[in-house]
Amino acid sequence: MSKVQEIYGELVFDEHTMQERLPSATYKQLMKTLKHGKPLDIDVANVVAHAMKEWAIELGATHYTHWFQPLSGITSEKHDSFIDPIDDGHAIMSFSGKELIQGEPDASSFPSGGLRATFEARGYTAWDPTSFAFIKDEVLCIPTAFCSYNGEALDKKTPLLRSMRAIDEQANRVLALFGEEPQRVVSTLGAEQEYFLISEQDYEKRRDLVLTGRTLFGYSPCKGQELEEHYFGAIRPTVNNFMKELDDTLWKLGVPAKTKHNEVAPCQHELAPLFANANRAVDQNLLTMEEMRLLASRYGLVCLEHEKPFEHINGSGKHNNWSISANGKNLLDPGDNPISNLRFLVFLAGVVQAVDDYQELLRMSAASAGNDHRLGANEAPPAIVSIFMGDELGRVVDALIGNKDYEAKKRTEMDLGVAELPNFLKDNTDRNRTSPFAFTGNKFEFRMPGSMQNLSDCNMILNTAMAKSLKEFADEMEGVSSEDFNDVALEYVKRTLRDHERIIFNGDGYSDEWPIEAERRGLANNKTTADALPCFVDQKSLDLFAEFHVLDKAEVFSRYEVKLEKYNKTMNIEIRVMKRLVRRDYLPAINRYAAEIARNIRDVKEVMPDANLVNQESKLNALVEGAALINEHLGKLHELHYASLEIVDQQERANMNAHVIIPVMDDLREAVDNMEIIVGRDAWPVPTYNEILFYA
Ligand code: ADP
Ligand code: MG
Repeated sequence: MSKVQEIYGELVFDEHTMQERLPSATYKQLMKTLKHGKPLDIDVANVVAHAMKEWAIELGATHYTHWFQPLSGITSEKHDSFIDPIDDGHAIMSFSGKELIQGEPDASSFPSGGLRATFEARGYTAWDPTSFAFIKDEVLCIPTAFCSYNGEALDKKTPLLRSMRAIDEQANRVLALFGEEPQRVVSTLGAEQEYFLISEQDYEKRRDLVLTGRTLFGYSPCKGQELEEHYFGAIRPTVNNFMKELDDTLWKLGVPAKTKHNEVAPCQHELAPLFANANRAVDQNLLTMEEMRLLASRYGLVCLEHEKPFEHINGSGKHNNWSISANGKNLLDPGDNPISNLRFLVFLAGVVQAVDDYQELLRMSAASAGNDHRLGANEAPPAIVSIFMGDELGRVVDALIGNKDYEAKKRTEMDLGVAELPNFLKDNTDRNRTSPFAFTGNKFEFRMPGSMQNLSDCNMILNTAMAKSLKEFADEMEGVSSEDFNDVALEYVKRTLRDHERIIFNGDGYSDEWPIEAERRGLANNKTTADALPCFVDQKSLDLFAEFHVLDKAEVFSRYEVKLEKYNKTMNIEIRVMKRLVRRDYLPAINRYAAEIARNIRDVKEVMPDANLVNQESKLNALVEGAALINEHLGKLHELHYASLEIVDQQERANMNAHVIIPVMDDLREAVDNMEIIVGRDAWPVPTYNEILFYA
C-alpha cells in the first residue's frame, strides 16, 4: 500500500472503522441512521460512544469536543477530558452515549441575533452522525448541530441539514415520476479554497493585517499579476513543503485534498478537494481552513484567508461546486439515454428557476464586509447573479426555449441534440470565468462566495430553492398519466426555461454593458452587503424557508441580525484601525520625513546659498500638502465614525457604512498611499506591497 493509502482517513471514525469496531447489529442500525435518516436510539449511541472512545484513546486522544458552527461561521469547540475519577484515587476513561449525542456548552457568548435571551444562556449540541468524528490535536471532535433550549437552530449546520432533507424529499418525488425507487438524494459540494501565504515577519509589522485580516493601506506594487507568471507557476520550496504537509494532515483527517496550485495573484494559492455530500464537505472545508492557518506558522508563513488582503491584485474566493446526487448518480450529468436526459432537463430547468427566483438570496449568502471588496471588481463575478450555460448546453436551452410550435419536430431535434450532449459536454472546458453561476459539465459552480465564508449558507439556499422547483414540478406532474408524462414534462421544461430566460447570460460579466443589460432584464444588482442583506427578511424569503421547514421566521431574523452586526462590527474595527494607524504611524512618519528634508534644505542653503533645491523643495511641499490632506480626510472619517455609532438601527448603520463611510476611507487610504511612494524607504513605517508580495 502506498503511504497515502495507509494514512488516508486514519484519524477518522468513518464507515470502515465503524464496521471494524462496532458489533454488527449496532453497525447496521447506525447505517440506517446514516443512509436513511432513521432516528438513533440511546442503546446504539452507548455502544458507538464506547467504541469511539476506545479507538480515540488508542490514537492518543485524551479529550473530546462537540465541534459546531455558531452563527459567526467559525467552528467552536470546548474540550472535555474522558477522565472519570473513581473512589480509589484512580481514574477511568469514560464516554457515554448521552455525552456523544448531546452536549451543553455555555452558549451565552455566541451570536444569536436575539434568539436566545442571555438569561436562557443554555444551548445544546446534538451529534450529527452523517459527518464523521475525527481526531485533531489529541481531541476527539464530534461534528454537532447547535440549538437553543426551544430547539431553534443557533448554528449554520442545522438549516443546511434541513435543506438537504427538503431536497431529498422533493427529488424523490420527481424521481418517482421517472419510475425510480425511493433513494437517498443529497446535494454534493466541492469547495475550492483560495488563500495567500506571506512571511510571518512582514505580517507582524502590519497591524492592519493582524487586526483586520486585510491591508488598509498600500500603494500598488511595481509589478502585480499582469505577467500572469504566478498562475500554475512552479511552487516555491517553502510553500511546497507547506502544501505537502497540509495534504498529509488533511488526508489523515479523511479530507480528499486533490488539487493544489498557485493562483493568479502573487503569493496566492488554491486547494481543491474532491466533492462530497454537502454537509460533510462544509465540515471538511472548515477543517481545511483551520489546518492551513495552523500549519503555515511552522514554515514561518502566515495564511491569509481574507477575501481581499491586498488592494490592486486579486482577492480570494471559494468556488462552490454544487450538484445533486441520488445514490451516487449525478442528477446534473447530461447522460446519454433520452429518458434520463429528460430527467436531466427537468433538474436543469429546476436550477434555472431556483437561481432566478432566489437570485437575491444567493447574492445575500455571499455578502460580507470582506467580500464587498471583491464582488464586482474585475477579478470576481459581479454582484449580479446570472447563469452561464456554456456553448453546447446553451444551444440546447435555446432550442427548447425557441421551438414553440412544432412539437414533433422539436422533440426529435431535441432528442438528437441531447443524445449528443455527453460527448460535447464531457470535453467542454469552455469556462466563463466572469460568470457567478456556471455550468461546468456536470455541476454548477457558484463563484460568489468569499474565501472566509462558511458555505452552509449558500448551499442551504440553493438546496431549498431547488426543492421548491422540484416540488412545483412534482405537484403539477403527479396527476399526469404515464403515457402523457414525457410530453407534459418536456412542455413544463420549456415553459420554465422560457419564464426564466433572463437569468441566462453567456457573455462577459466584467463588461460595462452587462450591468445596464441586467437592469433592463430586471435582475438585481445589490452592490454592497448593506444592500444585499435585507432580502433575507422579505416575505418571499420567509415563505420559502417556512415552506420547507428550513428556517422559521425567528431563525431568519436572527441570522439577518447577526450578519448585519458582523458587518457593522467589522467596519467599526477597520475604521478604528485606520484612524489609529494614520495618527500614530503614518502621519508621524510623514512629518518626520518632511522635517528631515526641511533640515536638509536649510543645511544645504547654509553652505550653498544659490543651490538648486527644486527637488527637495517640491518634495517638501508635496509632503506638507499630503499630510494636510490626510488630516482633512481623517477628520471627516472621525466625525462620520462617531455619527455612525449613534445610529441604533443596524440596517441604517450598515447603509451609512457602505455608502458614506467607505468612500471616505478610500480617500484617506489614497492620500496615505500617495505619500508611501515619495517617502524614503527607511522612513516608511511598514513593509510595502513590493516587499510583502515578492518575498524570497
Ligand atoms: P476549476 O478550478 O477548473 O473550477 P477544479 O477541478 O479545481 O476546477 O474544481 C472542481 C471542483 O468541483 C472539485 O472540487 C470537484 O471535486 C468538484 N466537483 C466535481 N463534480 C462534482 C459534483 N458532481 N458535485 C459537486 N462538486 C463536484
Ligand atoms: Mg473553480
